[in-house]
Amino acid sequence: MNRFWSRLVRELHPYVPGEQPRISNLVKLNTNENPFGPSPRVWAAIRAEAAETLRLYPDPEATALRQALAKYHGVRPEQVFVGNGSDEILAHAFVALLKQDAPLLLPDITYSFYLTWCQLFGIVAEMVPLDSALRIRVADYARPAGAIVVANPNAPTGIALGRAEIAALLELHPEQPVVVDEAYVDFGAETAIPLIASHPNLLVVQTMSKSRALAGLRVGYAIGDAGLIEALVRVKDSFNSYPLGRLAQAGAVAALEDETHFRQTLRKVIAERDRMTRGLAGLGFDVLPSAANFVFARHPARDGLGLAADLRAEAVLVRHFAKARISDYLRITVGTNAQTDVLLAALARCLDKGTPA
Ligand code: PMP
Repeated sequence: MNRFWSRLVRELHPYVPGEQPRISNLVKLNTNENPFGPSPRVWAAIRAEAAETLRLYPDPEATALRQALAKYHGVRPEQVFVGNGSDEILAHAFVALLKQDAPLLLPDITYSFYLTWCQLFGIVAEMVPLDSALRIRVADYARPAGAIVVANPNAPTGIALGRAEIAALLELHPEQPVVVDEAYVDFGAETAIPLIASHPNLLVVQTMSKSRALAGLRVGYAIGDAGLIEALVRVKDSFNSYPLGRLAQAGAVAALEDETHFRQTLRKVIAERDRMTRGLAGLGFDVLPSAANFVFARHPARDGLGLAADLRAEAVLVRHFAKARISDYLRITVGTNAQTDVLLAALARCLDKGTPA
């Protein structure tokens, strides 16, 4: 706290990202990074772009990248918006679309950044509880709303809704903007992008951070009706006209060109997620069905906070949320085969020595 802070900043509850420690030999399964790395074509494209031309501003409209994304997803370039990570796009969407007179509906357990943006931008949020199995129930959204945001798959549960359920949500609210955050969709859920053609109120947000292993490049994108994209552009051009640098634009285009690497990486993550799920179940964990690159699991004999601390002492980092309904759970990112082995062995030791909750 400092006397020069505005009231808004004094009262903010910023989002707390998972820690990025500089300790070596750590098994880092706390921020849903992809352990298998980006396509080598991305490094090559970035190297080629790292030239004297860096003195020039990048294309403010990221035309080549938006064209590549439009082609990849079967839409027109005017239906594509790109940003500095999907966090930036979501932030713009909160101002541009989700701030309405009536409350914004969102699940009570979801990506916690949504509530931070509500606070930052003065948006009234109305939380809709997940059901007892920690699932989003679309029928529960049949209530007055100014707008809706859901993550699909949801975070941190990893549970996905099918496209038909997203369509049902859109049918409930044809006159309200609906944002579907698909940060993890490639790992096993159905994208809502095909619904855009018939739903001018749907904005789908995706990222290259997870399935394309480019969290460090900061590239996210949104796809929707050109009218919604125009709203995002208006906010972007009132905030930062050049959100993506030359290296990010070049790297992201190259990532889209390597479908083989993309598919291979997804297969590896999914296979490793299945193995991790079986291993955790073998140790007595309840594991929620995940369509993401992480699992959400709890052990009947241990509280989440204590178990996360014990794992940290074993140099394994996972994420714990001190929040009602989910404080017994750990969110564990899918790692490499070797990392899963280390995790499972460390957990077995922690459970052995742990005192029952
Ligand atoms: N949405 C969800 C649900 C996430 O978990 C994350 C990652 N923290 C993001 C969006 C943002 O990811 P990025 O800014 O790296 O695209």
